[in-house]
Amino acid sequence: MPSPLLLDGKQIAAQIRKELKAANALRISIGQRPPLLAAVLVGNDGGSESYVAHKIKACADVGFESRLLRCSSAISQSELLSVVHGLNQDEQVDGFIVQLPLPEHIDEQVINLAIDPSKDVDGFHPVNIGRMALGLPSYLPATPAGICELLRRNGITTSGMHAVILGRSHIVGSPLAQLLARPGEPGNCTVTLCHSKTVGLRDHCLRADLLVAALGKPGFVKADMVKPGAIVVDVGTTRVADPSRPSGFVLRGDVAFDEVAPLCKAITPVPGGVGPMTIASLLTNTCQAFLHR
Ligand code: NAP
Repeated sequence: MPSPLLLDGKQIAAQIRKELKAANALRISIGQRPPLLAAVLVGNDGGSESYVAHKIKACADVGFESRLLRCSSAISQSELLSVVHGLNQDEQVDGFIVQLPLPEHIDEQVINLAIDPSKDVDGFHPVNIGRMALGLPSYLPATPAGICELLRRNGITTSGMHAVILGRSHIVGSPLAQLLARPGEPGNCTVTLCHSKTVGLRDHCLRADLLVAALGKPGFVKADMVKPGAIVVDVGTTRVADPSRPSGFVLRGDVAFDEVAPLCKAITPVPGGVGPMTIASLLTNTCQAFLHR
């Protein structure tokens, strides 16, 4: 079996940022302002802090403006709704995100529903999900959109493939199933969407031409679950304790990379695969929001 193609999300995300930066510089040269992304961060969860910091830095890299709104973890749901209403009405803000997860006393769906769909650059609002389902222009959820772009820019044509997705979350697995099943490229797949109640999961995986793991279970996909020649996309990013690292942890994907990679036609690494593509998609959505306004 030849060496697998490494689907290098870091490199492709850098290319996308370069394109966004060039287009932004051109707009600024004719007197326009840059797009502005706002991020709401509730509490100080380490993972959320790090994700938001990456998003803010990515904005600076391409010349977009950003605004970080920090809220205490004790913020009430109605106070957080006021923050969202303020951003909906703020003419300077093109798009914004409310970093998940939120504290348990806050209903994420109530907050999600309050976001103006035209500023919903995470693509989580039902209006955007519904428009995506109908194939209408919309903000696509960043991680599934990033995966599709990663496949597209690596010249992988998915038409006719059997795609098996592990995990049915609203932000990754379910929207990705829709995108891969719809007509077009990437798309035109026959999709099997698996979850914790799926019976015969290994047999489903073994039939996959394209296997996407989005469970949050480090090393879950082993070599005996992968068809030789399959394309494997690892969405998982779990912090696993590692005292030898300055950070005290290491990021682990849902795929046992060392044993699975030799079987694959192509595979994403963790880190450096889907993660950077997610941020690139968020920037793309922010740029779209700016252009629509
Ligand atoms: P989630 O909301 O926790 O959903 C996990 C899904 O996996 C659920 O649908 C669950 O099934 C399913 N599952 C759990 N155990 C399973 C098992 N043994 N067999 C089959 N299915 C199983 O997770 P998420 O938000 O989609 O995130 C998944 C992973 O991706 C996490 O590691 C997360 O950190 C990572 N992630 C990465 C990025 C990125 O940019 N790289 C972005 C988003 C998420 P049920 O529905 O039946 O419970």
